[in-house]
Amino acid sequence: MGCIFCDIIEKKRAAKIIYKDELVIAFEDINPRAPVHVLVVPKKHIPTSLDIKEEDNVLIGHLFQVANRIAKDKGIAGRGFRLATNCNSEAGQTIFHMHLHLLGGRIMHWPPG
Ligand code: AMP
Ligand code: ZN
Repeated sequence: MGCIFCDIIEKKRAAKIIYKDELVIAFEDINPRAPVHVLVVPKKHIPTSLDIKEEDNVLIGHLFQVANRIAKDKGIAGRGFRLATNCNSEAGQTIFHMHLHLLGGRIMHWPPG
C-alpha cells in the first residue's frame, strides 16, 4: 500500500520541506492547525508509535532533537510549543507513517480535543 510520507521522502510527491538529513525529514503540514505546524518524520517507515523498536532509539532521540531545533529556528521555543504523535484511529492518526506534529505560535489548549 502506498504511503504519502514515503512518497515525499522519495521525492515522488511535493512538500514544503524545511529540513532533512540522513534520518529525518521535516515539512510544513498541508492543513496547518496553528501558525507553526511542521511534521517531523523519520525516513524509516514506522507505521505507528507502537511499532518503535529498541533499534530505533537513536532515531527517535534524533527526531526530538530536530523538532527542538526547528522550534528554536521558528522562534517559538521560549514561548512554548507542542510535540504530538497520534497513534491509531481514536487518536486521529490518518497517515500511518509515524511522525511528530510540531505545533506553536499560539496558545495551545489542554487537554487537546
Ligand atoms: P495524523 O492525522 O496525526 O496522522 O497527521 C497527518 C497529518 O499529515 C495531518 O495533519 C495532515 O494535514 C498532514 N498531511 C496529509 N497529507 C499531507 C501532505 N501531502 N503534505 C503535508 N502534510 C500532509
Ligand atoms: Zn511511509
